[in-house]
Amino acid sequence: MSAALVTGASRGIGRGIALALAHAGFDVVVNFASNLAAAEEVAGEVEKAGAKAALVRADLADAADRARLVTEAYKAFGTIDLLVNNAGVAPAQRADILEAGEESFDRLIGINLKGPYFLTQQVALRMIEQGTPGRIVTISSMSAYTASVNRGDYCVTKAGLSMMTKLFAARLAEHGITVFEVRPGIIATDMTGPVKEKYDRLILDEGVTPIRRWGQPDDVGKAVVAVAQGLFPFSTGQVIDVDGGFHLR
Ligand code: NDP
Repeated sequence: MSAALVTGASRGIGRGIALALAHAGFDVVVNFASNLAAAEEVAGEVEKAGAKAALVRADLADAADRARLVTEAYKAFGTIDLLVNNAGVAPAQRADILEAGEESFDRLIGINLKGPYFLTQQVALRMIEQGTPGRIVTISSMSAYTASVNRGDYCVTKAGLSMMTKLFAARLAEHGITVFEVRPGIIATDMTGPVKEKYDRLILDEGVTPIRRWGQPDDVGKAVVAVAQGLFPFSTGQVIDVDGGFHLR
């Protein structure tokens, strides 16, 4: 059986990816930051799908936690065939880039960019050592290319993930490891809950998402499964939009 490590798998998109992978036959390392109850629920669903789950609490912004996450993942399943860099946070409050402070910037850089960058480095080294023809998928956002001036910190981290994908794709190709960026559109999760009414209007009335519905975590899960199952054998460094056509506007 193949194994996947999904960061931020306790809720939202990460949960959807973990469950889609389990249904596709992958054992799953369910990483989370603090929400043990939610992570346990996901582990239960993974097992109901006939796969194995390993729960690992680890703060991606913390180097020691990242190292332990990798160690525990390999201890659980002996291999990691797929790394999904999904965990991410939005700024607690939006602020114009002419006024925004450094605290939020540092927090977002740590969790959204530095965490996946060095986690990818560590997992890639293990994949190379074991000769795993691995896949690495990073969840960025349409904020990687849309200049939202009231959440510049978030946009900068997501744009950084685009370059990170290209860099690792270029470096790892010779080892048979392929790397993808998945850009979700507006997906119904806890992150978008606080702006639900605004997004209802934008999606349903104004059609910013041309396929006029909210995206669901499983929409992203299905795209990740396609990569995980090797349906893109001659592609790497590629962007996959899962956004109902948002990028067309
Ligand atoms: P949620 O807020 O619903 O879930 C976030 C997940 O990340 C949780 O599992 C949480 O764990 C985990 N997490 C948060 N901080 C850390 C940390 N420091 N270390 C490890 N795990 C952490 O977010 P979404 O599911 O909406 O978003 C998932 C990803 O998709 C993010 O990268 C986001 O930027 C991106 N995205 C989301 C979009 C959307 O519309 N929702 C659109 C485009 C991109 P815990 O439960 O323990 O708190």
